[in-house]
Amino acid sequence: MDKCLAALKARTPYCWLNPDYGRSAQLPYSLSDVFDAEARLARFAPLLAELFDEAAIHYGIIESELLDIPALSAKLLPGAKMLLKADHDLPVAGSIKARGGIYNVLCFAEQLCLEQGVITANDNYRKLATPEVRALFGQYTVSVGSTGNLGLSIGTISAALGFKARVHMSADAKEWKKKLLRSRGVEVIEYTGDYSTAVAQGRKEAEADPYSFFVDDENSHELFLGYSVAALRLREQLRLRGFMPDREHPLFVYLPCGVGGAPGGVCFGLKMLFGEAVHCFFAEPVEAPCVLLGLATGKNSEISVYDIGLTNNTLADGLAVGRASGFVGGIMKTLLAGAYTITDDILPELQAETKKFEGLKIEPSAAAGFPGPEIVVQSGFCEKMGIKKENVCHILWTTGGRYLPEE
Ligand SMILES: *Cc1c(COP(=O)(O)O)cnc(C)c1O
Repeated sequence: MDKCLAALKARTPYCWLNPDYGRSAQLPYSLSDVFDAEARLARFAPLLAELFDEAAIHYGIIESELLDIPALSAKLLPGAKMLLKADHDLPVAGSIKARGGIYNVLCFAEQLCLEQGVITANDNYRKLATPEVRALFGQYTVSVGSTGNLGLSIGTISAALGFKARVHMSADAKEWKKKLLRSRGVEVIEYTGDYSTAVAQGRKEAEADPYSFFVDDENSHELFLGYSVAALRLREQLRLRGFMPDREHPLFVYLPCGVGGAPGGVCFGLKMLFGEAVHCFFAEPVEAPCVLLGLATGKNSEISVYDIGLTNNTLADGLAVGRASGFVGGIMKTLLAGAYTITDDILPELQAETKKFEGLKIEPSAAAGFPGPEIVVQSGFCEKMGIKKENVCHILWTTGGRYLPEE
């Protein structure tokens, strides 16, 4: 613990293995909630296919590919079995936030429609695109606080459904993300403060308005369950490759982490579905390791990176979060295998190599998982768990980049 804290304070890359990993715990959700979320997305698929050309290709199921990356893999950890889960290329929102963000707004839309009696559970949800329902949605404002990508996700789906959409952007948010959102009919409010400030402002504003729905990235259970559906999709993709992981042939999954919601939701889904056949690791910048800090100290969201002298300034804008989600931190306490920190300087090079070797366009945050295989293999985790290194299938989870401007 002291060694870990010292490394975090010194901004020295550090790999933390979770001492509570695998202990039994009372969890607020189970696998049935993951299936429930998937079923809701399936109900909405016809509507999404109608609203977005990009979603029509897969009949309204917004999903990314599972890719072989032979050249990148040989560079990162020679001889290792490695795949890339391409959430950087998720349609409509262009990042992992497509999973949870879109799902969260669909939950709200569905609830509103059922309450107002404009649809029944057996209707085709394409009905939500009719002028009458859009007029209902137009009375409501959907808002969110974000470092960029969550705003892009929530704003895009909300505006497309006919809601008024307001996105509170932290200072980290990139100009091109704000521009893209405005072009999609979303109101963008800019802050000079960090992510927590933008979230707090958005929350406060929404509380004052009964016709407002605020997607709370620090607390939303719907967001979390939307992310978790990734596990079911990944299992199907592995099955098509003829590969079913088990305890002796496990998946090691590397997820870039900000407030913890997206990687936490994915980790939760994977652990519910694969159990001991999967081990998840979070990747955070040395200046913004809020989830690692919360878990390692046991203080969860009661401690921030500022409290230990860090700045939360990072090139990885999607990961620039100073304080973890307490709700997600609580669930990760026994489900997360470990977390590690990386310095910013490695990100542009990894980003360039990903383009050169594999032709994939990712944003800096999305490369944070790439050092994971080498770091974790060297950490002693395999020995501790009795896993043969050569049996591991490493999965790099890329999280954003589809709409990144070319220059
Ligand atoms: C938001 C984001 C993450 C992490 O998600 P959190 O829910 O904030 O932990 C990772 N990568 C990118 C590109 C993101 O935008």
